[in-house]
Amino acid sequence: MGIVSPDQLEKMAQVARKYKVETLKITTGQHLKMLGANPDDLPLIMEELGGSLPSAPAHAKIGMHNVQACAGSPLCSFAKGDTLEMGKKIQNVFADLAVPGKVKVAVSGCAFNCCEGYVRDLGLFAKKSGWTLIFGGNAAGRPRIGDVIADKLSDEAVIELVGKCLGYYCDNAKKGERSGHLVARLGVDSLLQAIK
Ligand code: SF4
Repeated sequence: MGIVSPDQLEKMAQVARKYKVETLKITTGQHLKMLGANPDDLPLIMEELGGSLPSAPAHAKIGMHNVQACAGSPLCSFAKGDTLEMGKKIQNVFADLAVPGKVKVAVSGCAFNCCEGYVRDLGLFAKKSGWTLIFGGNAAGRPRIGDVIADKLSDEAVIELVGKCLGYYCDNAKKGERSGHLVARLGVDSLLQAIK
């Protein structure tokens, strides 16, 4: 969710200098790229940063990707909800779920939707009355605007409904099929019926 402490930033800068990495890039997928790093140094770099090398490139990962969340309240004056807290809850509950394809999640604090939840597999945005949940959006080669599944949701109701939507996805999607393609294939009524 783009959260990093000053200590972590300093550590990253130290390691980058040590291994002669000239440019760091924070990606839209919430990854940190070390551009120009010597591939032979990567295990050492990751060891010094306290992480491990990913088993596959980020764009190829099957499963839930890092949750994107805007600043939300109290950091943005437009915010109607605590996006970082909600993002954390979703990540904690669903990050290890075995799903058929990529699942991208975006949590925005208001209807401006800075995290573009309408074109993510799962999108959330907050209003005064609660959260709105969108499912089946996609911004890739075959773009699709997701369907609003429910609104005026409490935090607890969001977690329950996200679980039901992901359950439907697991039960019905072909291997590698994105949520948007699934909903386009079976129709949103099939989803709404299943999660009632
Ligand atoms: S979506 Fe709303 S709350 Fe979030 S950063 Fe954008 S304007 Fe602020």
